[in-house]
Amino acid sequence: KVVCVTGASGYIASWLVKFLLQRGYTVRASVRNPSDPKKTNHLTSLDGANQRLQLFKADLLEEGSFDSALEGCEGVFHTASPFYHDVKDPEAELLNPAVKGTLNVLNACAKFKSIKRVVLTSSIAAVAYSRKPRTPDVVVDETWFSDPEFLKESKLWYALSKTLAEDAAWKFAKEKGIDMVTINPAMVIGPLLQPTLNTSAAAVLNLINGAQTFTNATFGWVNVKDVANSHIQAFEIPSASGRYCLVETVAHYSEIVRNLRELYPALQLPEKSSDDKPYVPTYQVSKVKAKTLGIEFVPLKDSLKETVESLKEKNFVS
Ligand code: NDP
Repeated sequence: KVVCVTGASGYIASWLVKFLLQRGYTVRASVRNPSDPKKTNHLTSLDGANQRLQLFKADLLEEGSFDSALEGCEGVFHTASPFYHDVKDPEAELLNPAVKGTLNVLNACAKFKSIKRVVLTSSIAAVAYSRKPRTPDVVVDETWFSDPEFLKESKLWYALSKTLAEDAAWKFAKEKGIDMVTINPAMVIGPLLQPTLNTSAAAVLNLINGAQTFTNATFGWVNVKDVANSHIQAFEIPSASGRYCLVETVAHYSEIVRNLRELYPALQLPEKSSDDKPYVPTYQVSKVKAKTLGIEFVPLKDSLKETVESLKEKNFVS
């Protein structure tokens, strides 16, 4: 079976490509710059890559860019989307590539009858910011949808990019009759296959690289291997549909630091929060739908250990 992974050099996508090759798929991997070894060497050296990995050059903002990669595919995994927090021009750097890029990919999908299903990598950021209160007894689930106005007011540009992109994708998919499933993960951690540092692994690296304080924030956390596997399950299980929240645990940064201290007592870790406000409360995220994909969820502490070991091995830890 032939499938395409967009943004294949990224953190989540690299694991997805690895698992797809392991399962015998022929993988068309779209990257912006196929001649950059930092973006491709970790893919072309995967088991099965010699026989079944093909690189394609494609950019989210170039219309028609994905046509040649998608023609003849049975499945499409659209993971490409910028994930940064330090942006100067949110529209150019985040919103346009996320929204126009997603429609660009779906437009190509609509052209080819061979494509049976599209799995879109959305985010819990498109789910959890709905203005409803989040407290320890509240359970967030797939029926929530983030409110774009709230995200604009709060200047949460990355979350806005994912919310607008998912919303536009559902409208387009319904209009064109595309079978689409979305995966909505929280902060993804675990081992890195790529040689460069991605935003969610950087959140852990910052804590162990001499930060004086931890952010007063509470996020869901999930292992990258569970995220990659859930994409494949969402493609392979015929009855899979709609959205799938993927969160192993919701935890405040203080809790992440506590786990790291237990794992690595010798590490210098931040002792206090970045502000004097009460800690942002935790909440729950339903695992009911994710479990129907057969996902067991690597526990948070194991995921943190895998992340730190990988960051050390790749010499990111100073
Ligand atoms: P990475 O930064 O590792 O990967 C992002 C990928 O998007 C890269 O391959 C990048 O390509 C590609 N990309 C960005 N802009 C463009 C563009 N204009 N044209 C083509 N490709 C582009 O991030 P992750 O693996 O973490 O993220 C992958 C997906 O998962 C994203 O959709 C993200 O929103 C989503 N996600 C991530 C979470 C996390 O915690 N990591 C949580 C929830 C969702 P290039 O290599 O060329 O820069």
